[in-house]
Amino acid sequence: MSQSSHETTVDLASKSEALFERALGVFPSGSTRAPFYNSPYPLYMKKGEGCRIWDVDGNGYIDFANNMGPLILGHRNPLVQKAVEEQLDQMWCGSPTELEIELGVKILKAFPMCDKMLFAVSGTEALMKLVRAARASTGRNKIMMATGAYHGTSDSLMPGEGVPKELDRLTLRYSYNDPESFRAVFDENRGDLAAVLTEAVLGAAGSVGPDRDFLHLIREETGRHDVPFILDEVVTGFRIARGGISEKYGVRPDGISLGKIIGGGFPVAAFLATDRLMEPFSYSSAEFPFIGKTKIKHAGTFNAFPPGVAAGLATLEQLIPEAYTHLDYLGESVRKSLSKVCEERHLPHYLTGMSSMFRLHFTASPIRNYETFSSSWDEKTERLFDAELLKRGIFMPPAHSAFCSIPMGNQELEQFENVAGAAVGGLSKNR
Ligand code: PMP
Repeated sequence: MSQSSHETTVDLASKSEALFERALGVFPSGSTRAPFYNSPYPLYMKKGEGCRIWDVDGNGYIDFANNMGPLILGHRNPLVQKAVEEQLDQMWCGSPTELEIELGVKILKAFPMCDKMLFAVSGTEALMKLVRAARASTGRNKIMMATGAYHGTSDSLMPGEGVPKELDRLTLRYSYNDPESFRAVFDENRGDLAAVLTEAVLGAAGSVGPDRDFLHLIREETGRHDVPFILDEVVTGFRIARGGISEKYGVRPDGISLGKIIGGGFPVAAFLATDRLMEPFSYSSAEFPFIGKTKIKHAGTFNAFPPGVAAGLATLEQLIPEAYTHLDYLGESVRKSLSKVCEERHLPHYLTGMSSMFRLHFTASPIRNYETFSSSWDEKTERLFDAELLKRGIFMPPAHSAFCSIPMGNQELEQFENVAGAAVGGLSKNR
């Protein structure tokens, strides 16, 4: 993209395009990761510092993707950088470390309803293990999740092509923020349910937050019928508060998945739960030199990878109450700016998000779940708008919720509002 251009045209001479041409010969459609795949090609980034990133052509952007959430402190935070460098000088991987205990203690302190935790490398894995634990400890097979919810790409949580129909049928859907839909599916299946899963904010619909009453309804119903309640806080854990939505809305799930922020930008994830769900991961008591067995094996070459754990610890240390006040302020400001520029141009719009997460929808219809999102999604306008922002120096995750980072301040907010105004103007010319 050319930053100086005032047209929504892509600079075809860019190095990103040349890299994409090469990538096409290596990866299917040239893409290694769905959220960053874009048309006509994604931008290839080379450097990041604070809240800014630079592409391979040297164009600079304010980063509102932040790797889809982990980079709450922005890029190359000095304390994180130092912690990782120190760890690289000491030990890379291959035995338990004191660091993993320190991070585990901090995580459990933020989610006091859980008794124990384990590290994994990705959110996908953490959720897969929680579902397995729920099936093992209840002896039941069905699970419930919201329509449009994303809990990673494991078979049970992403049924569809390539997943055996027998497994597919065990995953039932309810509509997010819709008590009637939840009750109907739950009441019909509760005797067969191993777990109910809820995404703490519905990412695919634009980080739509749950109604407090809806979350508590799920908690009460699942509790009454002895069905484990798993809350997916991969995105929200340590982002909207240290204890995520659980803390904000005072809800006590039986299992929680975390990822993103707890690795400070590195691949660290975790799942935490009550003793009942974690028991299958404990070794049966054994006398030296034996160790006994676990009911569910928990292995993983890179679990609790020390440089990632060090990055996570250095990140959590900086997430003090003032950090959350600032993140709330950033999110509120960008949502206000987007409303303002759309109103000025009489453009139908609706804003979703919570704290430092946001998404602009080009519809006037309220969005509360995946059904209301998908029936009014104007993909073309959203992608054109992202392109308009991009060429003026704002990098948004393509057609996805965006994330603010702590290094952003009033200067970036002002730049954002100006650019958003110009982008909305550019949009009207292209529609
Ligand atoms: N759950 C949610 C709510 C997520 O947003 C994501 C990833 N964006 C995952 C699970 C999967 O995490 P990972 O990409 O680390 O596998």
